[in-house]
Amino acid sequence: MNLELSEEQEAVRRLAEDFVAREVAPHAVAWDRAEEVDRGIVKKLGAVGFLGLTVPEEYGGSGGDHLAYCLVTEELGRGDSSVRGIVSVSLGLVAKTVAAWGDEEQKRAWLPRLTSGEAIGCFGLTEPGTGSDAGNLATRAVRDGDTYVIDGTKMFITNGTWADVVLLFARTGGPGHRGVSAFLVPTDTPGLTRRPVHGKLGLRGQATAELVLEGVRVPASALLGPEGKGFSVAMSALAKGRMSVAAGCVGIAQAALDAAVRYAGEREQFGKPIASYQLVQELISDIAVDVDAARLLTWRVADLVDRGQDFATAASKAKLYASEAAVRSANNALQVFGGYGYIDEYPVGKLLRDARVMTLYEGTSQIQKLIIGRALTGVSAF
Ligand code: FAD
Repeated sequence: MNLELSEEQEAVRRLAEDFVAREVAPHAVAWDRAEEVDRGIVKKLGAVGFLGLTVPEEYGGSGGDHLAYCLVTEELGRGDSSVRGIVSVSLGLVAKTVAAWGDEEQKRAWLPRLTSGEAIGCFGLTEPGTGSDAGNLATRAVRDGDTYVIDGTKMFITNGTWADVVLLFARTGGPGHRGVSAFLVPTDTPGLTRRPVHGKLGLRGQATAELVLEGVRVPASALLGPEGKGFSVAMSALAKGRMSVAAGCVGIAQAALDAAVRYAGEREQFGKPIASYQLVQELISDIAVDVDAARLLTWRVADLVDRGQDFATAASKAKLYASEAAVRSANNALQVFGGYGYIDEYPVGKLLRDARVMTLYEGTSQIQKLIIGRALTGVSAF
């Protein structure tokens, strides 16, 4: 693995850093307080090409490799995890999955709109009764002539109230993951209603929703991939998604490091900057090691993807480590800030709140450990 960024990758990273400094960071606290990111950010993300990274240019994508994608995701996560999540879901979980599994008609119908920011995608897997155990989902899609009729409820859906299309997982066959199929369902289809989920600990600016489907009728052409292969569609999306979450977590940890170093140099106690105390330096150096380790694990996944190698276990390792590191780093930074870390005029409290969900979604830390354990032992413990 080459640890030197190419000129092109460095240019993309700088573009993302500038974009975040201009369009994201100045608003992040206000969006968090208002519980809503300005929707205009989606078009801006599309215009700069960040919603089309790794998607072929013939479908409106901006191409590039997965390391460039991780660099952009890291910078967005450094600025505001709510904005990073829009990209990770609409591009990372939806557009990239349409590109990988879609037929020509589906790619032409959705990719140019998703990559430009004209449309937003959401990923509907989790249900009120099934989170970690997603293969047991209860939403049903029943074939009726040339259509399917879908009934069920999806929970915690990122971009849910904003999205134009949901990549929806529903049961078309018997119990277990082999009975699951994937569908592309426009959110204006009659019978689909959305309820915003409020009161989140973090990612407050992000539009999270419950989706209720009652007699939602879609044409058979809405099926993404073969019938009964929906769980494979979901798992392939999530494996790459975990790389994107990990990159976002590196961004959180880096932001925590930047904030802690700056504050420790400015804040004086006992007549000296707190940076001069060994125990404060310990907090800072712990963050710095976590940043490096999480970044290297994440880049390794990108490298494996770009070289066409197996990457799923490496993605689970990166997601597990980076998400726990983001929580630890934000918490260590908050300690450096003392009481000022506990109020929202300073950035570290938000970093900690935003980081906390990263060990939960796209597979909890426990589930990542079980995936890694299964790969090592050949025995599934779940
Ligand atoms: P549960 O599965 O009930 O787990 C509860 C606890 O039990 C966890 O600690 C878990 O690790 C543990 N546990 C469960 N099974 C085992 C086991 N076999 N061994 C050991 N421990 C176990 N979902 C989507 O489909 N699309 C989205 O866009 C999306 N966005 C989200 C955004 C937010 C803000 C949040 C909070 C969630 C989002 N989710 C989304 C859902 C998320 O993926 C789930 O919350 C997650 O998979 C965990 O499921 P659960 O909440 O039902 O917890």
